[in-house]
Amino acid sequence: MTRVNLSLFLFFAKAGMVYAQSGTLNIYFIDVEGGAATLTVTPSGQSMLVDTGNPSPTDRDAKRIFEATQIAGLKKIDVLITTHYHGDHVGGVVSLSKLIPIEKFYDHGDSAEAAGNPRAAEMWEGYKIVSEGKRVIVKAGDKIPLKGADVIVVSSNGEVIAKQIKAEGPNHLCKDTQQKEPDPTQPENFLSVGTLLTFGKFKFLNLGDLTWDRELMLACPANKIGSITLFQATHHGFYNDLSGPPALVWAIKPQVVIVENGPTKGLTTAGYETLAKIPGVEGIWQGHRAIRNDDAHNTSESMIANLRTTQDETKGNWIKASISKDGKFTVTNSRNDLSKTYTTH
Ligand SMILES: [Zn+2]
Repeated sequence: MTRVNLSLFLFFAKAGMVYAQSGTLNIYFIDVEGGAATLTVTPSGQSMLVDTGNPSPTDRDAKRIFEATQIAGLKKIDVLITTHYHGDHVGGVVSLSKLIPIEKFYDHGDSAEAAGNPRAAEMWEGYKIVSEGKRVIVKAGDKIPLKGADVIVVSSNGEVIAKQIKAEGPNHLCKDTQQKEPDPTQPENFLSVGTLLTFGKFKFLNLGDLTWDRELMLACPANKIGSITLFQATHHGFYNDLSGPPALVWAIKPQVVIVENGPTKGLTTAGYETLAKIPGVEGIWQGHRAIRNDDAHNTSESMIANLRTTQDETKGNWIKASISKDGKFTVTNSRNDLSKTYTTH
């Protein structure tokens, strides 16, 4: 290394250190082709991953999650929350645990679908093996320890928090709301672990694949969540309208929404319309362009991380949210480096 190169190296090394200590909380919405994998890294360097994507012979999703952990400079994952045991949420866990240590595994309790379903049983057995001795079963109202942010469980094992997080009057959206029963053959969805993460004024809600009826339990007769800042659209954008009642989605008033959908999975026309009508919504970002809808039902193309119509085994683009303690946050699309900055109300 020449002297000039060395001084440049030292300059960038120092800049890198300043960046690492800049106090932002970063959330990576990793592309797992219509599954879910959301990695949060706090300013103190602790990490929380919610879900591990799909299984595949090439370990595609586990490798993408690992890559994000390396970009974030992690040596381990402190907290893994598995919202439920469907393959698109727990499928990468066995492979991922071979790539990076996972300290603690949080879940809703045992699988409700393993009996009589060989594929579900395989996922469940794999999860049990890698989480042995490190599992914590959570109930609604529990706190998950994560240095640098507050994480509260708002739903788990079919139940939701008993009390409002913030006192609010009755939710006027409840009187016109439609009731929808969950699919009894897919109980894992309504057992989903939902979490609310708070960092200063910023609030991020991720309910996994929680179903319409359970989301209504969070919203009616009064909204128990309060207003939030960032919303990971439930169930990949309300998958076939099984989730996403306006009585919840409009009451929590997220400023920004990120949809972890796939080209033909998740986000529906009705789902997009529900999101677009959120009072005061400032931005909707998508993991994928939804090709089963016409383009009128996608967000603007620049805010979509992946435009392709088929799954890609090599590269997936992510969306990242970077939040400062003062409430300013920047969302970036890794496909085109588009960034938008918002201010938490
Ligand atoms: Zn799912």
